[in-house]
Amino acid sequence: SPAVEILHLSYTYPTGQVALRDICLRIPVGEHVALVGPNGAGKSTLLLHLNGLLTGQGEVRIFGVPLSPATVRQIRSQVGLVFQSPDDQLFCPTVFEDVAYAPIYAGLSPAEVEARVRAALAVVGMSAHAERSPFHLSLGEQKRVALATVLVMQPAILALDEPTAGLDPRGRRELMALLRTLPQTLLLATHDLDLVRLICPRTVVLERGEIVADGPTEHVLSDP
Ligand code: ADP
Ligand code: ADP
Repeated sequence: SPAVEILHLSYTYPTGQVALRDICLRIPVGEHVALVGPNGAGKSTLLLHLNGLLTGQGEVRIFGVPLSPATVRQIRSQVGLVFQSPDDQLFCPTVFEDVAYAPIYAGLSPAEVEARVRAALAVVGMSAHAERSPFHLSLGEQKRVALATVLVMQPAILALDEPTAGLDPRGRRELMALLRTLPQTLLLATHDLDLVRLICPRTVVLERGEIVADGPTEHVLSDP
């Protein structure tokens, strides 16, 4: 089965704002897909459906398994969602504790937690900062720690919302180099077209909740 299959998904917020209209999308295992489009197009709303944080009409399947109340727990362990703002993911006194939070909550042994946290911090280049407060880090460092809080659960699929937004040139370059090395299936919502060209062979364009283009990045992004 594909990693992600979205079938005729529509979503309207309780305010009446229509955010997704009849979305169909299939992402094979290991593919890196960019999701682009103007503010308000529905990118974040779509990502929130991948692990059941929002539930619209239609179907979302992860590795062939339809998302439902019965499967949402298992599917959350397979789909790691990184929000645009690290504030939504960092809340502990130290970086180590923030990254350890999910594996402790999942009931892993202290030795396993320790090993996984060290490994995740190494992947994002933050090993030297384990004992620091996440609130005293730069935004780029916070974003990398937020990514580590998700990588530590070893999800097969990563959904990233604006990973480079707000970063200075150096932080952005570091994050781009890091994202490039990730082997997971990746769905990346972004306005950063350099990032898209660097790591996503395929691009999906959303406008007003609808997919208006889906194809090889060089074709989709060269259209006037
Ligand atoms: P994008 O991520 O592409 O900027 P969003 O998914 O955030 O788009 O938003 C899609 C549409 O849904 C927009 O019209 C936005 O204003 C609306 N929207 C987003 N979040 C909410 C919310 N919590 N309540 C009501 N409307 C929302
Ligand atoms: P993004 O482009 O990353 O989706 P937005 O500016 O659309 O960011 O949304 C930022 C936050 O505001 C999100 O938490 C979203 O759910 C919320 N939001 C967006 N539009 C609305 C809206 N019309 N009503 C209520 N909340 C909204």
